[in-house]
Amino acid sequence: MRQKIVAGNWKMNLIKEEAQSLTAEIVGMSNDELGTNQNGVKLILCPSFVHISTIKSLFKNVKNVHLGAQNVASQAEGAYTGEVSAEMLVSYQVEYVIIGHSERRQYFKETNQEIAQKIDLIFGNGMLPIFCCGETLELREEGNHIEFIKNQISESLFHLPASKFEKVVIAYEPIWAIGTGKTASSEQAQEIHAAIREHIASKYGQEIADKTPILYGGSCKPSNAKELFACADVDGGLIGGAALKSRDFIEIAKSF
Ligand code: PEP
Repeated sequence: MRQKIVAGNWKMNLIKEEAQSLTAEIVGMSNDELGTNQNGVKLILCPSFVHISTIKSLFKNVKNVHLGAQNVASQAEGAYTGEVSAEMLVSYQVEYVIIGHSERRQYFKETNQEIAQKIDLIFGNGMLPIFCCGETLELREEGNHIEFIKNQISESLFHLPASKFEKVVIAYEPIWAIGTGKTASSEQAQEIHAAIREHIASKYGQEIADKTPILYGGSCKPSNAKELFACADVDGGLIGGAALKSRDFIEIAKSF
């Protein structure tokens, strides 16, 4: 059985009070109400850096809701003004870090190599990566998308020993579906998730591939989550816009 995960990527949204109420609405629910008792789903909230401490303080006695960050510096420490290190994140009990999000690749020019460095710092500090990959519409139309995604995975993750790789969470996020309202069909999602699992198996073997959670991201919402999560190789979702409303986020988490 693979771990089911629904992670909320809040991006650069919500001021302090809004982030507090959203968290309180989620952690104020019982495991039954969240559906985590019934389907074993793990929820991860990924606020912006400035809210991490406040959000963590609301997590007391809550099971199955975990804290993630949206990025981390590619250097361990030093004169990198404005950056936040892996060591800092772990000192606030952050457990997961979203890494290689397409917005970071596009706007901040993150390369597969830089992402690999970040992955090492995440593991080196005892946290776990939620590694994002995915293609542009152009690549899909050219028919090169699967090779492109495999290459993103090989270049950023395949240097890891199996003992570390088996803890990675992967998120397939077609760029053309992020924040656009366009979702990949369940067939499109399943095709890529299966290809990713096959690629992992070719490097680490079937047992590890079968254990790796592969999440879908890109305009996932309550109305389409059930169909997406029913796919054999879709183990949950990385949710952007719909994670900003507790009711939608929870409904998605209950969609398994
Ligand atoms: C994301 O950016 O990770 C994402 C999935 O966004 P949205 O759900 O808004 O498409």
